[in-house]
Amino acid sequence: MSTAAPRGRGVTHAVELVRDLGADTFVIRLQRNQLAFQPGQYITVGLPGETDAREYSIYSAPEDDYLEILVKRVDGGYISPRLRRVQPAQLLNVDGPFGFFTIAETERLASRFYFVATGTGIAPFHSFTRAYPAIDYTLLHGVRHTSERYEMYSYDRSRYVACISRRRDGDFTGRVTDWLRRYPVQPDALCYLCGNCDMIYEAFDILKDHGVPAERLFAEVYF
Ligand SMILES: Cc1cc2nc3c(=O)[nH]c(=O)nc-3n(C[C@H](O)[C@H](O)[C@H](O)COP(=O)(O)OP(=O)(O)OC[C@H]3O[C@@H](n4cnc5c(N)ncnc54)[C@H](O)[C@@H]3O)c2cc1C
Repeated sequence: MSTAAPRGRGVTHAVELVRDLGADTFVIRLQRNQLAFQPGQYITVGLPGETDAREYSIYSAPEDDYLEILVKRVDGGYISPRLRRVQPAQLLNVDGPFGFFTIAETERLASRFYFVATGTGIAPFHSFTRAYPAIDYTLLHGVRHTSERYEMYSYDRSRYVACISRRRDGDFTGRVTDWLRRYPVQPDALCYLCGNCDMIYEAFDILKDHGVPAERLFAEVYF
């Protein structure tokens, strides 16, 4: 992985394309501009001429020659509805990368991983699994409808578990935390949790009850 290229330093990146994944969720592909990052890190993105920006996990992998983010338009939000309307060639402000939600090189092939996401919290796991195809993981994705299984074909199907809370057409009916209660993980697993804070607090408690030590739990809270 390259670490030589500069950080974003608030530079503008042109939008290359926007990929719709449903009415409210989309991937924005930006020019890479040599930005170096580790899978699991995030960037901040804003509109040119404005100081407001929001954090977005990097969805693409360091090996890709573009930079992608997965965004859900939040009703009444300030930035995400405007990101929904961006068009190819438009410029966006990018800063970063930031964050420590990363996997140590020594652990990548030595550990069993549980990746637990709600909604767009799957973004860093997309980057992990793309960058580290040999990693031994189970990915729990908590969503309300099957239509929110964003680009599920990107993952090894036997490792991806859609936990659908409101319908019976997923791999598991219930929340990711219900899955964790029913199928305890091995205490020596490394557990990465990403998404809304309610899920993360609840999952922490369940995993600690199952004997996973705090130093093997990692979290990225979106809201
Ligand atoms: C480290 C980090 C990484 C993030 N990565 C992503 C990512 O990859 N993809 C992504 O879509 N978002 C991500 N977020 C959330 C993102 O930064 C914004 O908060 C989100 O896009 C809403 O911004 P907004 O300006 O539209 O709404 P705002 O005007 O800032 O806030 C509107 C309200 O919506 C709440 N909110 C934020 N996100 C959601 C959500 N998904 N569903 C429901 N309510 C929400 C906020 O708590 C707030 O109360 C990340 C946040 C952090 C801290």
